[in-house]
Amino acid sequence: MHPISVARRVMEKTPHVMLTGEGALMFALSEGFPKENLLTETARLAWEEWKKKAEYKPKINVERHDTIGMVAIDSKNRIAGACTTSGMAFKMHGRVGDSPVIGAGMFVDNEVGGAASTGLGEMVLRTLGSFLVVEEMRRGAHPQKAVEKAVKRIVHKYPEQAKENQVGFIAVDKKGRHGAYGIQTGFNYVLYQRGENKIFEAGSLFQ
Ligand code: ASP
Repeated sequence: MHPISVARRVMEKTPHVMLTGEGALMFALSEGFPKENLLTETARLAWEEWKKKAEYKPKINVERHDTIGMVAIDSKNRIAGACTTSGMAFKMHGRVGDSPVIGAGMFVDNEVGGAASTGLGEMVLRTLGSFLVVEEMRRGAHPQKAVEKAVKRIVHKYPEQAKENQVGFIAVDKKGRHGAYGIQTGFNYVLYQRGENKIFEAGSLFQ
């Protein structure tokens, strides 16, 4: 239920950056996390329906997405990030998306800022999108310009896939400035500041 909390334990309690598969499960259980079934009835029924034809057309919804990427900055300007996803629907067993890959789905460099992505993970993995955003900020770009640059890079490299798919980035820099941008419209993000949540629709390359 709480993969970010498990990931945090990996960071704090082991000398490693990532644990996967059975080893990750063993670690989580040994840390006292309960094993829970996350499959909802709605998702189970959708899967049963899909099995009737079982066409291999894994899809990520273009509008809202289910990946939650977060970048936070505290009063001492320390930056932290986290990312959690259920990933692409009806994908092959073993498919790895962008979200767990540091530098792709999320990247934080405490000297510069942090970024996180959502959307078709393959496009983000191939461009190491979140790392690109942070490197743009390192070179002085405002977070908004940095996320726009990463989206444009993806569209330039994968014009066909970009026509029908979404990728969105959020970013925060060391000065507390932020940015958000997507390939397609409909990418919402939330800004939490001074005890208040505000929802915005990010700008997009395609209208
Ligand atoms: N980025 C995720 C993946 O490719 C999916 C998503 O953002 O909805 O697995």
